[in-house]
Amino acid sequence: MENKNRYVPSRFNAITHTDDNGVVLFNSYTGAITYFSDQEKQAVLSSLKRAGTDLLENEIQEDLHTNGFLVSSHVDEKRRAQFLHQSLHRTDTMHLVLMPTEACNFRCTYCYETFERGKMNRTVINGLKAFVQEKAASLTDLHISWFGGEPLISLDVIEELSETFLAIAKENHVQYSCDLVTNGYLLTKDTFQRLLSWNINQFMITVDGVGEVHDRRRHLTGGGRTFDTIIENLIAIKDVPGSFDITIRTNFDEDNLQATSELTHFLKDHFADDKRFGILFRPVGQWGGKNDDDIPVCSRTMANKKIWELTDEAITQGFGMSSMIADSLMPSASVCYAAKPHSLVVSSHGQLYKCTLSLHEEFNQVGKIHEDGHLELDYDKIASWVTSGEETDAVCQSCFYRPVCQGNHCPLYRMRTGERPCPYEKRNIKKVLNLIWKNSTQ
Ligand code: SF4
Ligand code: SF4
Repeated sequence: MENKNRYVPSRFNAITHTDDNGVVLFNSYTGAITYFSDQEKQAVLSSLKRAGTDLLENEIQEDLHTNGFLVSSHVDEKRRAQFLHQSLHRTDTMHLVLMPTEACNFRCTYCYETFERGKMNRTVINGLKAFVQEKAASLTDLHISWFGGEPLISLDVIEELSETFLAIAKENHVQYSCDLVTNGYLLTKDTFQRLLSWNINQFMITVDGVGEVHDRRRHLTGGGRTFDTIIENLIAIKDVPGSFDITIRTNFDEDNLQATSELTHFLKDHFADDKRFGILFRPVGQWGGKNDDDIPVCSRTMANKKIWELTDEAITQGFGMSSMIADSLMPSASVCYAAKPHSLVVSSHGQLYKCTLSLHEEFNQVGKIHEDGHLELDYDKIASWVTSGEETDAVCQSCFYRPVCQGNHCPLYRMRTGERPCPYEKRNIKKVLNLIWKNSTQ
């Protein structure tokens, strides 16, 4: 018997209602996030009934189909997701997380790093140059994440490597992009402009409160204040023209939770007029540092709730949320680099890791880089990071968020706890879609 085609709702859809009686639809396979008004809502909801529709009879149904909310009943969506996951094995993309130094000028109360090693040594710098030169002919995309320690302490290493990588990328027609995580203390306007000139234009800077609240959590080695300098730097950066993206991250626990309103007011007063700045809230965890037992972490339930309550409050006050949140909903976007086959963390002394957190654990020490650019790799260890997600987890295979996370948002969390590492966004998807809509109306 002929198997007649119908258009049925995608298994990867999520929907939420908005305050103005509209709806926001999200499809995790296409990454589409679409708003429909009160007038369009009924047509949308009836088109998305489980039984589906024989034909695409109007513009709304066409639109739903184009964006992947309605799919042909002949489509095997699980296969699509599986294929998307396999595409992480493409050999023409590479992501390197580089530590130009492992030293830091801060001693944050919740930090897990040990600062045993300093600046990246000459062998590693030469090795990275040789490796990228050798690899470039087969690459279309190279992404570098500058990480540390505090990477700006070794700006000369960033400069030397950036200039080499930029030249190699140009010569080989490779798309070259970068992000940088910094505490912001050394991020003067001049340094910022130099970073932009090296294609570094996505930044994450942590601010945990106003004045003393921030300073007692994120102080200099030896105890000095840091808030005023960071804010002066950020205000100066506002004058820099052009395109860049700054996420101000606030790590919260019971200690600073009550102070976040004051912070969002402050940030609104200084940055709300510049859409290149946005906020991201994340709970502090016991990440393995020496103060772990003393950190007043929020319970998991409380943390899951507070992230979005605080974001909502910031948007209501007029300070937008970080672009990282909507970006993290795109296909494959919440797969951690540790789970990607062509991603490596390179420490300042040439040790290769998959994950930036568990640096002292043997299973994360996956190889070494040599001065001639040769990588010595332990593929058995790498395999344990790369294959622990959706391929072995039936619940992930059936999850509506599978294309985004692939069961691999944090392979370390899965290894340590045996639990699924569902991203915060997935756990509260309706609220998140609502906030994305609300943020877009500001
Ligand atoms: S595996 Fe988890 S802890 Fe490690 S880098 Fe990825 S998200 Fe971070
Ligand atoms: S880890 Fe969670 S969000 Fe990710 S695919 Fe599995 S069930 Fe879905």
